Amino acid sequence: MTTTHAPPLTFVVTPKVLLEGSHYVVLYGDTEHLVGKDRKCNCGSPSCPCVGFVEDYLRRGGRRAPDPVACPVCGGETVRDRSLSTARTTGWSCVKGGRSHFFLARGRLIAEGWKKRKWVFPPGPGYAGVPITSAGAARRISEESHARWAAEGYNPAA
Ligand SMILES: [Zn+2]
Ligand SMILES: [Zn+2]
Repeated sequence: MTTTHAPPLTFVVTPKVLLEGSHYVVLYGDTEHLVGKDRKCNCGSPSCPCVGFVEDYLRRGGRRAPDPVACPVCGGETVRDRSLSTARTTGWSCVKGGRSHFFLARGRLIAEGWKKRKWVFPPGPGYAGVPITSAGAARRISEESHARWAAEGYNPAA
């Protein structure tokens, strides 16, 4: 004889704690709270229960959020910003400089990547390739190609 226990009929809102960068995201009901390591919640409520949920989560052996990553532009604290994330990069915004520091840091990376690039067109069999000697040279080559395509029509073999 087995007894089946019916699930309780009262709605229990079980908060869910997730790690998001150096912060804890608490999914509580249909709201989302971002609790920092300073035990402050971004919802602004000084008595937000989510701070307590994070403490419970840690007491039960939950994984601790890593220390904040310093902003590469100003060294300030960064906060994960999912709206800036792509499949390949994790978005963040700087506590001091906001999203502009994210874009500045991204811009530097792209500029460095461009500097490392040695070829406008890499060499291939029977083809010497076009090296990048400067960004200006690369732009000139590109402009010349476009002018030629405009005058003569696009010819990939030219
Ligand atoms: Zn909150
Ligand atoms: Zn910054």
